[in-house]
Amino acid sequence: MKLFDGNIKSKLPETGTSVFAVMTGLAKKYNAVNLSQGFPDFPVSKELIDRVHYYMKKGYNQYAPMPGVEELRKNISVMFKENHGADYNPETEITITAGGTQALYTAISAFINDGDEAIIFEPAYDSYAPAITANKGTVKYATLEYPHYSINWDVVVRMITSRTRLFVLNTPHNPTGSILKKEDLEILERILKGRDILVLSDEVYEHIIFDGETHYSASRFPELARRTLVVGSFGKTFHATGWKTGFILAPENLTAEFRKLHQFTVFAANTPIQYALADFVKDPRNYKGLGKFYQQKRDFFLNAIKDSRFKAVPAKGTYFQLLDYSAISDEKEYDFAIRLTKEYGIAGVPVAPFYHNGDNNRMLRFCFAKEESTLQKAAEILCKI
Ligand code: PMP
Ligand code: GLN
Repeated sequence: MKLFDGNIKSKLPETGTSVFAVMTGLAKKYNAVNLSQGFPDFPVSKELIDRVHYYMKKGYNQYAPMPGVEELRKNISVMFKENHGADYNPETEITITAGGTQALYTAISAFINDGDEAIIFEPAYDSYAPAITANKGTVKYATLEYPHYSINWDVVVRMITSRTRLFVLNTPHNPTGSILKKEDLEILERILKGRDILVLSDEVYEHIIFDGETHYSASRFPELARRTLVVGSFGKTFHATGWKTGFILAPENLTAEFRKLHQFTVFAANTPIQYALADFVKDPRNYKGLGKFYQQKRDFFLNAIKDSRFKAVPAKGTYFQLLDYSAISDEKEYDFAIRLTKEYGIAGVPVAPFYHNGDNNRMLRFCFAKEESTLQKAAEILCKI
């Protein structure tokens, strides 16, 4: 087709294709073991799939209510009460979304106006900054400090201006596998008290936490929760990233604004999957073991590469492990990741794209949400590099 010959005023002139799509594309092209994009290579529970079939066959195939299927919202409310002691009214404070990504984008669109500033922590998941920029906000970057990727709150406080409108948090954290401590949330709660600033708390890996640590959801801290939108994703919790179903929790006045945009972005998320998830989240055994399950995979992977030249600080949560390759090469992360994929047949993700100025710390991220046989194969390759 002929190209459009008018003027295109790009909202994201600097943005290319996401690193996850690029690396998975390369992994496929070179038939490499793919530990790049984060998704499990094992199946979704048969019982859950049967529930989806059941609801499809029963005729639950038309639009769901705009805020989401009521049973699912009710069960999420119970889950947050049990897990975090938080009270969310399913009618007015819980909305089901087409994945975490849509929840994040719609929330940012709802609350970021021209010239508003949003503070995000780098390395940062790749969707936050473009969503802020596309909505004419200004992104302010705070840095998570190596090796534990902790937040220096003294520095962060000094970044707040009269235009600061939003903080974006992510715990457990992609790509570093770090987690926020109770004190972090308490400090933030104190800092924000009396200020006109909201928080978007990306907690999609809420159940994937290791070594006996606790996930401190922003919903646990009442003064913080009243200014926070908490984002979750069933893709992570039930090994079904392709189902693109998630949720967002927020006080009524924030939810009302969120829904104004949500109804015109997707209107509603997928119906039969919501009914099936409503049944499934009722039983905590379906997600309570997730930390243990993934900790075994993390340990298996780390043990299998212990004699390699890669260095690791074990992830505390998520299904990602950063590996430091400074003992192997001085190459830039992107170049090294591409070379590993092409020459060695193992794909990871460079961390540089998670920094706005492309910082290179000679780190790659590897996803261990894989069968042990896949992790074994990957480790054997990594040990030869
Ligand atoms: N936030 C983070 C930190 C993620 O890693 C992901 C995974 N893609 C998402 C949000 C998006 O979740 P979803 O796949 O449900 O859109
Ligand atoms: N969250 C996944 C990751 O970090 C990928 C999501 C995506 O492909 N957009 O790898």
